[in-house]
Amino acid sequence: MLIPPGESVVETKSCKVCSANFVITDKDLEFYDKVSPVFNGKKESIPTPMLCPDCRQRRRLAFRNERKLYRRKCDLTGKELISIYKPHASVVVYEASEWRRQAWGGMELDFDFLGSVFWKIAQIQKNTPRPHLHVPENENCEYVNQSGYSKNCYLAFVTDYSQDCLYTHGLFRCEDMVDVSVATDSQCCYECNNVERCQNIYFCDFCSDCHDSWFLSNCHGCSFCFGCSGLVRAQYCYWNEQLSKEEYERRVSATIKNTTSGITDRKGVLQNLSYSIPNPSLHGTSNESCTGDFVSESKHSYQSFFCERLEDCKYCTNLRDVRDSYDWDYVGYQGEQCYECLGTGDGIFHAMFCTHIWGNVRNIYYCDLCMDVEHCFACVGLRNKQYCILNKQYTEEEYNILVPKIIEHMRKTGEWGEFFSPSLSPFGYNETVAMEYFPLSKEEVLKLGFNWSDYEPPFPKVEKIIPASKLPENIADIPDDILNWAIECEVTKKPFRIIKQELEFYRKHSLPIPRRHPDQRHLDRLALRNPRKLYERKCDQCHKDMITTYAPDRPETVYCEECYQREVYG
Ligand SMILES: [Zn+2]
Ligand SMILES: [Zn+2]
Repeated sequence: MLIPPGESVVETKSCKVCSANFVITDKDLEFYDKVSPVFNGKKESIPTPMLCPDCRQRRRLAFRNERKLYRRKCDLTGKELISIYKPHASVVVYEASEWRRQAWGGMELDFDFLGSVFWKIAQIQKNTPRPHLHVPENENCEYVNQSGYSKNCYLAFVTDYSQDCLYTHGLFRCEDMVDVSVATDSQCCYECNNVERCQNIYFCDFCSDCHDSWFLSNCHGCSFCFGCSGLVRAQYCYWNEQLSKEEYERRVSATIKNTTSGITDRKGVLQNLSYSIPNPSLHGTSNESCTGDFVSESKHSYQSFFCERLEDCKYCTNLRDVRDSYDWDYVGYQGEQCYECLGTGDGIFHAMFCTHIWGNVRNIYYCDLCMDVEHCFACVGLRNKQYCILNKQYTEEEYNILVPKIIEHMRKTGEWGEFFSPSLSPFGYNETVAMEYFPLSKEEVLKLGFNWSDYEPPFPKVEKIIPASKLPENIADIPDDILNWAIECEVTKKPFRIIKQELEFYRKHSLPIPRRHPDQRHLDRLALRNPRKLYERKCDQCHKDMITTYAPDRPETVYCEECYQREVYG
């Protein structure tokens, strides 16, 4: 068990779900005390969690369907939509533009001190319209979700301020990207993972400031390189060997025959090369006392992943500009003192046990789908409200008297201090991000009290479905007709289609047609990243103890930060 550096263990607990041991430290107690809400001058303490950090995160992520899209109708206008809610889901779904026009949280309940508070919230949820997708301000982007301010994108998820991006995830200010996960300020990349400020790169992972290159991993500031790992500011390198410009061009033009099998072979060689080249223990820049992967410009944060500008945070993922918060996944943008939240952001102070909350928000607990609310408890679909409980309006005085009584009631039901129970999620576990990071069988899912979805949408009519193995290896041999066919994924056997914009991209860059379903390609890229888990391991250079996402028995060479900097940057 890892103890956060500089903290002392106050209690070791056993997770109520998986029985794993986890620790509560002095710093954790300070945090739980700090965020415990105060009503009429009396603090209502948050208990320490009953679940381990992983089980807590899994429970939150089961409320987020990012990429399973369905055809269904808007329950207000009858218009056909592409939505994250399947046609017969037991929720009311409105087209996002309609949903944004006004507040729809019409149903109110009186608080009766009988039974579960989560059950009461579920009753309001069932009657409160939800937006069909989370998509602010896009143009020509019908098949996207959790993406905004973007144009001409297709199956682009969590992709903001971007254009002409297909099959992407986690992009910010990018253009002309196909099959890329996690990228910032980049253009024209294909099959890449974690790239920053890159142009015209293909099959590259964990790179920054690179251009016109192929098959790179952990390279920075490189251009005109092919098959390289761990290089900085290199040019004309070929499988990590320095060549002259002429020799490089000669070898590359002899090698670049972009057939499917050629690409698979090169990926294998690159993988072997990156085993022998030192890897950094953690990815991230300009941090002060942080443990976690892909964290930058952050201070005193522990076990957080894919975050920027965190301060005093723990167990956070995919956040920007957040301080003093624990257990929060997605969004951020000026957030403070939040705990157990999902998909909330944009100026939030003190939100706890909440999902999908935006705007100027202060002091809210157990709320879902609210905007610009303050002092609300167990509300769904409210906007510009204060002092509401179960969507019912109270005076400030009434609110401050009633909420502590509800909290007392929730202590008895075992709900106070815990996130919503999994059954409140409008999605099947297998439709959500939880399945990507914590894959489970249907049996396990149901046993743990999550929902499961058996619904498979009908596949659109196509002229024929061809097995991936029958596809020509070279893009030059692919006829236009492919747009009327479907390809059977070589891994999952699920059929998928090629769209015109995509075919043009492959032809322009002489790339073969993919043989795997977009969902499988997404999972393949996810698998290239280390799991979001931290281990103690010895640096392969100086042998000092370090914290890393590389499990001790993994074959890669892994260096501590100092050794890595010295080796790579000299
Ligand atoms: Zn657990
Ligand atoms: Zn070292």
